[in-house]
Amino acid sequence: MSARIIIKPNREKPIINQHPWIFSGAIDAVQGNPAPGDIVDVVGKSGKFLARGYWNPKSQIQVRILTWQDEEISDGWWRRMIQRAVDARSPQPDAACRLINAENDWLPGLVVDVYADYAVLQTLTLGIDQRKQMLARLLAEVLGVKGIYERSDVDVRGKEGLKPVTGVLVGDAPPELIAFSENTIRLQADLYKGHKTGFYLDQRDNRRLLGRLIAAEGERQRVLNLFSYTGAFGLHALRENAARVTSVDASREALMLGEANLQLNGFDEERAEFLQADVFEYLRDAAHEHERFDVVVCDPPKFAHNAQQIERAARGYKDLNLNSFKLIKPGGYLMTFSCSGAVSADLFQKIVFGALADSGRQAQILRHLGPSEDHPVALTFPEGAYLKGLLLRIY
Ligand code: SAH
Repeated sequence: MSARIIIKPNREKPIINQHPWIFSGAIDAVQGNPAPGDIVDVVGKSGKFLARGYWNPKSQIQVRILTWQDEEISDGWWRRMIQRAVDARSPQPDAACRLINAENDWLPGLVVDVYADYAVLQTLTLGIDQRKQMLARLLAEVLGVKGIYERSDVDVRGKEGLKPVTGVLVGDAPPELIAFSENTIRLQADLYKGHKTGFYLDQRDNRRLLGRLIAAEGERQRVLNLFSYTGAFGLHALRENAARVTSVDASREALMLGEANLQLNGFDEERAEFLQADVFEYLRDAAHEHERFDVVVCDPPKFAHNAQQIERAARGYKDLNLNSFKLIKPGGYLMTFSCSGAVSADLFQKIVFGALADSGRQAQILRHLGPSEDHPVALTFPEGAYLKGLLLRIY
């Protein structure tokens, strides 16, 4: 019989409502001596079955729920859940796509992205880390990829008592740079050292939207791509004949790959500028020099890693958006994002509103933005909604 985690009577509600995390404070007792990472039954005080998940006493989140049904967590169960997540996507043969979005696909702690013939697996928790060989084997069968590479070099693993790990799990090592297509643009990513699993897949739909916007506005659009990483937003604008795209990022490696991606697509190199700079400084200098753009994209890294950092993050977002407004021609556009889970979409909109008020400009919301459909958010897991954005027209 599995070990049992007894829940305090007043803490059952979120579990019944299918929130996948059980914090230590909700636990009344642990029965049956489970080992860290073991599958445990989650039960009420009366012994009533509530859920089943894996346990880690080292983590604040002691149990991550895998199922709310009284079903066995066998290899067959993992295979069914993987298959279900993969079936919900339709990855193009040559494209990149998130196949498993952790809690949001009811596989807490497991992220899997595919880039053409190779998959990248990221384990965020002990329960998944212990099972990664089995999971990689199942994935290889389901996906038929040439290899699966592990990129478990993320800080959150520390909260689970885990160190960073990278390496080949199954099959061949991926090439140094992997080529794939996004909205028919050719891209390359570094699966070994690139950010996340190599690329920001969550922005695919917003990049396509930017391309459409540039196409609809006709030629001669000047675009500023702030926090450009490898320049993927800008490439979408260049394909639609933007007059000039300025990409700004602090990372030299990212910008160099951006230039390589530009060449790969055969776009006019004269129209693209890659600047290695701190965006906050760049914005101040650009305002000073009266630079003006038709479209600004602002996609900063996560500013708030927890609730305590929200206030500081809000100041950062406000500063960025205020300084972006100043550079936009009347009738131009701002595509602005936050990927801080701790900053809600509502709060982000309020921060941008605050920046607008200080700028003396006028703005309309054309669209609320979120991640691509391969990054679903489980309805019962608001923590999954980290990426939010606004497409604004500015006067
Ligand atoms: N828009 C990108 C993803 C941006 S991720 C895309 O479509 O792929 C955030 C980026 O911000 C990273 O590339 C990181 O190198 C960069 N960055 C972080 N802090 C910065 C700063 N202060 N100034 C400039 N770039 C910064």
